Amino acid sequence: MSQNFIDALIIGGGVIGLAIAKTISQKGMQVIVVENEDTIGSITSSRNSGVIHAGVYYDSGSLKARFCADGNRKLYEYCNKFNVPHLNTGKFIVATTENEIPILDSIHIKAKDNGVTGIERVSGQFVKNKEPLIKCEEALYVPSSGIVDQGSLMRSYLGEFEDQSGNVAFKSKFIKSNFKNDNHVSTIRNASEEITIESRILINAAGLRAEQVAKNIDVLDKKYIPKTFFAKGNYFETGKDLKIRHLIYPIPNEASLGLHLGLDLGMQVRFGPDVEWVEELNYDVNNDRLEAFYNDIKKYLPSIDKSILRAGYSGIRPKLKNKGEGKSDFNIQDETVHGIKNLINLFGMESPGLTSSLVIGDFVSDLIA
Ligand SMILES: Cc1cc2nc3c(=O)[nH]c(=O)nc-3n(C[C@H](O)[C@H](O)[C@H](O)COP(=O)(O)OP(=O)(O)OC[C@H]3O[C@@H](n4cnc5c(N)ncnc54)[C@H](O)[C@@H]3O)c2cc1C
Repeated sequence: MSQNFIDALIIGGGVIGLAIAKTISQKGMQVIVVENEDTIGSITSSRNSGVIHAGVYYDSGSLKARFCADGNRKLYEYCNKFNVPHLNTGKFIVATTENEIPILDSIHIKAKDNGVTGIERVSGQFVKNKEPLIKCEEALYVPSSGIVDQGSLMRSYLGEFEDQSGNVAFKSKFIKSNFKNDNHVSTIRNASEEITIESRILINAAGLRAEQVAKNIDVLDKKYIPKTFFAKGNYFETGKDLKIRHLIYPIPNEASLGLHLGLDLGMQVRFGPDVEWVEELNYDVNNDRLEAFYNDIKKYLPSIDKSILRAGYSGIRPKLKNKGEGKSDFNIQDETVHGIKNLINLFGMESPGLTSSLVIGDFVSDLIA
């Protein structure tokens, strides 16, 4: 067993852990990230839609609302500066029935409250002129939505972190920590040994496992740990360029943004994610969901050929509210919440966590400044 002392230990090398790591290491701190897997961001950070969200949906006052629109602007600036592959596609949120039209108004109001600019209310014909395959009654055009290559983004964060002599320890699992003499003393297990790392700051960015990790932080009163519910999102892929150039989103529901038409940077079309509440982490996509996908997709893309839809990948959202309990927000806790010095727990880091990652990095950095 060996012992090390550093400024900050970050648990989790996903997009959020890495964004925090690069930000605080650039302030001169010595930082180690421990990552359970053998590579960065292989869990939720690479199992998502890769959308740079504009910030239109989130309830005012929520952390999601506070972070997303700013995160969107910062992410475009970052991608341009560091040559991270991305594309500002814009998106249409489509009302496919008369009944859905008033919901566009409420989304528009929320978007303005959240500081999203440039949104326009457009007719079904306007959408048809831009995207001849898409059918809707009316829509909102959101110019600031886009897509980013998540892997390249995380590699860029990692590169910046390593430039500051930061280090990600792979196949290294956080087991537990104690609090001694104002420092966090963590036990980390890798393939060959258990090591102890003593740090002034401990940051739990373990994504889907943040609840579990928090339970193993001895000093933390367990009443502060929210329960995490798993909402799987399945995708069906086409592997084809259907000559659609905007993201197409239906009207959102309580648990998700709806089963949308997404694009990768090669313009291949995929659909999803849907919502499947699960108990365990399992990423298989059941082909039985095809019919439900087809029925939803054809509301806005009537010409979709069912035979081109293939079960694709899935990702799992760490939600802080269970099915039917409403929308959940990010929950970031520092000393002002739980009373423990230099301990930060990030719970419920679902969408728009990728878009917000730079802003979350700054936010956490300010909490420990
Ligand atoms: C289906 C889906 C679609 C989404 N679409 C979008 C989108 O289009 N746009 C957007 O902005 N956001 C989107 N998101 C949200 C976004 O993907 C997440 O907010 C973001 O990836 C969370 O990053 P993270 O670093 O918190 O989690 P993760 O990427 O899960 O990273 C946490 C890391 O912690 C590690 N870990 C866990 N326990 C331990 C331990 N004990 N010791 C060491 N390491 C540990 C894990 O191995 C993991 O690598 C989507 C999410 C889902 C599920």
